[in-house]
Amino acid sequence: MPAYSLEQIAAITGGTCIGYMDAQYIITRLCIDSRTLVDAEQTLFIALKGETRDGHDFMEDAYIKGIRCFLISHPPAAERFSDAAFILVQDTLAALQRLAAYHRSRFQIPVIGITGSNGKTIVKEWLFQLLSKDYYIVRSPKSYNSQIGVPLSVWQMEETHQLAIFEAGISRPGEMSKLADIIQPSIGIFTNIGDAHQEGFAGIEQKVAEKMRLFTKVQLLIYRKDYPLIQRAVADLQLQRSAAQHPLEIFDWSTSEKARLQVTSVSKDLHHIRVEIYDQHQMHALQIPFTDDGSFENAMHCVCLMCWMGYDWNTIQERISRLQPVEMRLFLKHGINGCIVINDSYNSDLHSLAIALDFLQQQSSGLKKTVILSDVLQSGRDEQDLYQQIAGQMQQKGVERLIGIGPRLMEHQDIFESIPNLNGSFYPDTAAFMRAFSPDDFREEAILLKGARIFAFEKISRLLEQRLHETVLEINLQAIVHNLKLFQRFLKPGVQMMAVVKAFSYGSGSVEIASLLAYHGVHYLAVAYADEGIALRKGGIRLPILVMNPEPGSFQAMIQWNLEPEIFTLTQLRQFVREVQQAQQSGFPIHLKLDTGMHRLGFEPTQLPALVEALLQMHPYIRVASVFSHFTASEDPAQDSFTTQQAELFESMSQQILQALPYRVKRHLGNSAAIHRHPQWQYDMVRLGIGLYGVDSDPEIQKQLQPVATLKTTIAQIKHLMPGESVGYGRAARIEKPTTIATVRIGYADGYPRRLSHGKAWMLVHGQQAPTIGWICMDMLMLDVSGIPDVREGDEVIVFGEALPIQQLARWADTIPYEMMTTISQRVKRVYYQE
Ligand SMILES: *Cc1c(COP(=O)(O)O)cnc(C)c1O
Repeated sequence: MPAYSLEQIAAITGGTCIGYMDAQYIITRLCIDSRTLVDAEQTLFIALKGETRDGHDFMEDAYIKGIRCFLISHPPAAERFSDAAFILVQDTLAALQRLAAYHRSRFQIPVIGITGSNGKTIVKEWLFQLLSKDYYIVRSPKSYNSQIGVPLSVWQMEETHQLAIFEAGISRPGEMSKLADIIQPSIGIFTNIGDAHQEGFAGIEQKVAEKMRLFTKVQLLIYRKDYPLIQRAVADLQLQRSAAQHPLEIFDWSTSEKARLQVTSVSKDLHHIRVEIYDQHQMHALQIPFTDDGSFENAMHCVCLMCWMGYDWNTIQERISRLQPVEMRLFLKHGINGCIVINDSYNSDLHSLAIALDFLQQQSSGLKKTVILSDVLQSGRDEQDLYQQIAGQMQQKGVERLIGIGPRLMEHQDIFESIPNLNGSFYPDTAAFMRAFSPDDFREEAILLKGARIFAFEKISRLLEQRLHETVLEINLQAIVHNLKLFQRFLKPGVQMMAVVKAFSYGSGSVEIASLLAYHGVHYLAVAYADEGIALRKGGIRLPILVMNPEPGSFQAMIQWNLEPEIFTLTQLRQFVREVQQAQQSGFPIHLKLDTGMHRLGFEPTQLPALVEALLQMHPYIRVASVFSHFTASEDPAQDSFTTQQAELFESMSQQILQALPYRVKRHLGNSAAIHRHPQWQYDMVRLGIGLYGVDSDPEIQKQLQPVATLKTTIAQIKHLMPGESVGYGRAARIEKPTTIATVRIGYADGYPRRLSHGKAWMLVHGQQAPTIGWICMDMLMLDVSGIPDVREGDEVIVFGEALPIQQLARWADTIPYEMMTTISQRVKRVYYQE
């Protein structure tokens, strides 16, 4: 473990020590997020200023959790932290980077730095798979490759490591030299360069030049010669380096040109890519256990490094043929007996365990937290210490049940048994657990499966997961967070965020999405009906919830579940107050809706005097938490004068209420489009809906959003039809030439519009367009897959997603994305994942 005294850290970062200070206190851990704190002991909390959050605001939380050492850029109110130590610097991120760079410079081992547009994480993980037999390797956890992720990765370096592999990713010019200073790679791998325009760069040449900065000082550079831009940039660097008397060694490969490794043939079968390689007058054959071009390229980079390191071809062939897929996603699925199952059974090390435990904590609201863990195969570490740390993490995250599988865990089970409130059971191997397994043993639990690959935990996950109808809506939780952050960036300081999660979060999910949003700092949730709010409360969501269309029949339940109504008529106000009185409550929060031009719900200007009078009378029972209104066309430039009129009316109407009430009342007006198009009307809060789910009508914003949902189904049967035959109901589709059709498991009852029959839409089969043919049926439809090679029964079909945006479907169906998203039937299972 790295160990630096506070005094040393102050000297390295150029900081000043203030507060109570034991200058010799040793720091071994860094924490940048108080929510994910594992152990406060020997931990330095670094208050980073992000685009939407300031770590300084979380110092109190960190302090309550036991942190006593802080790296900060402005001093806190001293009385709060009387026994804490502070290192005060100009810029906390720069200080973190300096600390990591210093730490890195103490090691002489080979350090591999990987960058490029795609494949960084895979190449890193594959090198780990290929080399970890022979070296004790430190590597970036998951895809920690940012300005923050890289220093945290490098901080893990220890004396016992023999090889380091770090990836570096950038989003603007100027960032790579900083990462290069931290990683200080001796070996570079440039994976590739994509041609997608990237925000923040003037053009692709600039992007390549910037990425090349990682390699300014490397001894060896590995790259593929088939990208002319990379080739040119490498040639430039070679010239510079020769001029500086510090020649650069190159190990390149190519499918088209002469190179150190020359690929002379590439062929694919169903499960493999076969490659022939010419290396120093000899041909070698290689079998890569994947079929996509990306895997071929990633594997070749690894082959180059192994060659350079002196591995013989037999070893290279043997190890490459056993490469395993890199699963970077944490999948959350619905399981048996009301459980949820989080499957992370692809790698096992301390860092990925911490990330997975964090996800468990975030998603487990209302459920018992259970972990099924295998032996952690991390050589070079003291086992007692390793399992002690794991036990500590579990205690921190409130894990209540541990099922430990493997001989090492059995040997150390006393460590876990000494933790209060943790119920442990242990098995020597996966088979023993499966023999003892009974479905009744698991009920209302959030279960994290975390095991090294050889323990084959996928067998356990099959026992625990509910069987799925094979049409699923996959929800990318990280994309939701990305979209939330994008909109948060438009907010003026102090403006709060209400996330609109009505209609099952625009079709994407309920408690899962709300838990995520709560975790990422939204202040309020809005639903349409009381039962949606009750479902969230039952799922353990504690954020304030606004119900936008409450029915009088639900008032009692709303009060019981602490759901706050939107009030838009006087009658409704009186009815609600009566219920509050009956429930013997007071000061219950309500939200007043004003009609400023939508003419849907809301008080009109002439009704305000009566409303104010009623509010004053009912004062002890209710409290107006907010006054709000809704734009009719905030996305439409042609309607901007109407939007302005609405905002002006809102200002004057809301003022009347604010002035009459003896306490502070919040105001909010803007929806997704208004957040960026009309920032002057953000008031105290904004209501973000469709933008969260990855859709915006402004093309510039749309480019920056990430799609959230992918609807997938599978092929049930394939048929070959001849001229004269017909397809489906009513013989509507007549076959005129030999045609292959695929029947897929989705129909209008799943929410796929019947309007899209007869080729009005296509789906993606193996990435190729397959149009609908004939009438769409209730549970199925037929696609024309003629000409798409190798289509088989059981193959996956993409209905919409990244490569086929939901907006396109909405246009085909002559509707808006809102409707497409919310009409996907609830019988289509939602599956959530986090990269
Ligand atoms: C649905 C809704 C929103 C969210 O609108 P988006 O356009 O999806 O951002 C905000 N406010 C109210 C009152 C709504 O009904």
